[in-house]
Amino acid sequence: MGEGAKVFCEHCGFESTILEGSGFLYPSLIKELKERAIHGEFGDKLKAVIEANPDGMINGENILYVCGKCGNWYSEPKLSYYIPTVKDAYFEDSHTTKRLYTHRHRCEKCNSVMHMHNTNEGEALELNCPECGSRLRVSEMDIDWD
Ligand SMILES: [Zn+2]
Ligand SMILES: [Zn+2]
Repeated sequence: MGEGAKVFCEHCGFESTILEGSGFLYPSLIKELKERAIHGEFGDKLKAVIEANPDGMINGENILYVCGKCGNWYSEPKLSYYIPTVKDAYFEDSHTTKRLYTHRHRCEKCNSVMHMHNTNEGEALELNCPECGSRLRVSEMDIDWD
């Protein structure tokens, strides 16, 4: 289950594909993310939470993050950490899992906290070109990348 969008800059030719959700490599992806998190790659706080709750799971779903200050954006794994509260719960869900850690995604350019773009609420995708700053042309796609 995944959604995506193709973005294209008519001004400078920049193009990119944004993927959201989880792809078919998800099980190995979250394993890898957890390994990296245990080694402290995503901060000491997450590392400590995992050490205290080794049976939890990391949320590796791709989310589009947008910086409200400078307009920078990227899609990357959510990186929250949670434990199932019912048997066999797999994906993070407020009814079947309990969140232990929320990752703050910071803008690489200006260090502001980035916010999640919420496609489900119909928020229009308005992104600027990272190369030249022009408004990007967006075509939403329904893609099955699993
Ligand atoms: Zn451009
Ligand atoms: Zn920024």
